[in-house]
Amino acid sequence: MSVPRFYTATRLAAGEVVTLATEQARQLRNVLRRQAGAQVVLFDGSGAEAVARVIRLESSETTCLVEELSWPQREPECCLTVGLALIRSANFELAAQKLTELGVARIAPLAAERSMVSYPDARDWAGRAARLQRIVREAAEQSERVTLPEIVQPQDLKSFLDAQPVIALVERSAALPLATLEPGDVVALAIGPEGGWSQTECAWIEAHAAATASLGRLILRAETAAIAAATLVLQRS
Ligand code: SAH
Repeated sequence: MSVPRFYTATRLAAGEVVTLATEQARQLRNVLRRQAGAQVVLFDGSGAEAVARVIRLESSETTCLVEELSWPQREPECCLTVGLALIRSANFELAAQKLTELGVARIAPLAAERSMVSYPDARDWAGRAARLQRIVREAAEQSERVTLPEIVQPQDLKSFLDAQPVIALVERSAALPLATLEPGDVVALAIGPEGGWSQTECAWIEAHAAATASLGRLILRAETAAIAAATLVLQRS
């Protein structure tokens, strides 16, 4: 029987009593059928992980006592940012979940010109961000991460390219395969929306991206391209 694993916003320390979130407590009691005295694993996103004991498991409050703290080295060495154009919510959320499992450090939603979500909508971000936070938290719990990827505010491609060296993924181009590129100091990728990059964005890429790269001659969906590109970079470092 595997040990349930939960993220907590409480900073972990030996002897600390941690209150689980309502949804976590419900899962522990009703789905995993645990009782007081059960062991759980907690992580707080700082890199620390704790073995803890459930000391109270009631509908009003579920608390755990931290018994042992460790700092396991499980995260990829490469601190990768994935800039992914805002695509249909379900697909963006799928990408966020998989990118979390792969160990991406930061997810940057890009308000691309051909994004299904327009830029004014993207600014009304709070609701979507809360859902995304929950998805990445659960993915991190399941994949045994000890940090959570940061999800930043939507921005346009130009500001993303200006902020750091970026490898932009471009379909139907003469760009070199991503697998053959030496990422060097480049720790950010940019993936376009369902409709691809606009002409303006292609010009920004030409002028401001550190490099462009291809994922082969077949055209991948944006979420597939994001997952495949992140895998190639993270598995190499
Ligand atoms: N509708 C567009 C395809 C967009 S695919 C068209 O038919 O031309 C969405 C994004 O995924 C692209 O902007 C690119 O960033 C990435 N992508 C998809 N396939 C790719 C490939 N073979 N090589 C590099 N990037 C790719």
